[in-house]
Amino acid sequence: MAFTRDKNFKRFEKKVWLSSPTMHGGELKWMTDAFNKNWMSTVGENINEVERIVAEKIGCKYAVALATGTASLHLAIKLAGVKRGDKVFCSDMTFSATLNPVVYEGATPIFIDTERDTWNMDPVSLEKAFELYPDVKHIVIANLYGTPGKMDDIRKIADRHGAKIVEDAAESFGATYKGKQTGTFGDIGIISFNGNKIITGSAGGMLLTDDIEEANKARKWSTQSRENAPWYQHEELGYNYRMSNVVAGVIRGQLPHLEEHIAQKRAIYERYKKGFSGLPVTMNPYDEKTSVPNFWLSCLLIDEKAMGRQVRGEQDALYIKEHGKSCPTEILETLASFNAEGRPIWKPMHMQPIFRMNPFVTREGDGRGRTNAYIAGGGVDVGMDIFNRGLCLPSDNKMTEEEQEKVIEIVRACFD
Ligand SMILES: *Cc1c(COP(=O)(O)O)cnc(C)c1O
Repeated sequence: MAFTRDKNFKRFEKKVWLSSPTMHGGELKWMTDAFNKNWMSTVGENINEVERIVAEKIGCKYAVALATGTASLHLAIKLAGVKRGDKVFCSDMTFSATLNPVVYEGATPIFIDTERDTWNMDPVSLEKAFELYPDVKHIVIANLYGTPGKMDDIRKIADRHGAKIVEDAAESFGATYKGKQTGTFGDIGIISFNGNKIITGSAGGMLLTDDIEEANKARKWSTQSRENAPWYQHEELGYNYRMSNVVAGVIRGQLPHLEEHIAQKRAIYERYKKGFSGLPVTMNPYDEKTSVPNFWLSCLLIDEKAMGRQVRGEQDALYIKEHGKSCPTEILETLASFNAEGRPIWKPMHMQPIFRMNPFVTREGDGRGRTNAYIAGGGVDVGMDIFNRGLCLPSDNKMTEEEQEKVIEIVRACFD
């Protein structure tokens, strides 16, 4: 590649991360406060405060602080009433944590294909899924990479079929749809404070609801389901899912910086968009009329005509270099060789070996099996297509403009 002969083009000395924690100082203050007051436990002021602040920010009545986003999803799915043997409609192109709790509960995820406008659950495929499986009563939907899905359409369909929605806003904390925060569109919502999310506690999650009984149940279940008795009395199955007051201290220090992080992530997205002009690529899309994403990760999608040949097996990938073309494998390998971290798009769940027997519903397929993953005439389903042609770019808040310019040059050079 031409730029490798330019002596300014060395490896980044300091790794450019996909998305790493951005600490400010207040985190240490509140962690120390927990330490000094000896609330080194799953009870304490930090927990109460982060619950209050998040509920206020999101605009829901109750936020229950839990150990992880996954634990929050698990309790959300139980609260929504998912039972052993149920079928549940789930986002297909997402992190597996979105739907693993459905499986913990002995229910079966049915994957719903992705739409191209926001890369989230496709309402048309969802409607189709209700024709095929009219008895389904639960939908689990994620807002991918911080971009809200088509919430009005999904809600209308859910209501028409009497189904409840669990909204996985793990990646989209702070994003809005029609002026309302994500996490409020489901009957129950969740967010995550995992280490690479836009606000982190090193770990942590929250369950969001307007129903006091649900909030109380989540609190009880998350602390081993003790009854109100002098001894350890149990009528229900319990979990050890409550957030630590030390972790809550980190989150308490982070929360005042949410809007600042979103502004930085948006600037990263805009710089990429501008930097790639003229290249045969597009950025991860969103609907400007309805949505303000939190821009957690910037992604790009290579135009079909500029896709180089790439073969992905179950564990590895190969590509052939072609003039004027590139592919996610080449771009990711090239970025890695310069010490910058990208990531493939979440590999759709219907392509995962563990879910090979689960139904998958596309607009055109009949939704009953693997073979329907292929759309007549179109080649592949939408999720598989985005996985094949897309990738996540380094989107770290702390990446400097100069570093990002260099990332852009590296990507441009892949199309030489
Ligand atoms: C991170 C994430 C989760 C899980 O959150 P944890 O806090 O890591 O358990 C769930 N769903 C999505 C879409 C995520 O990105």
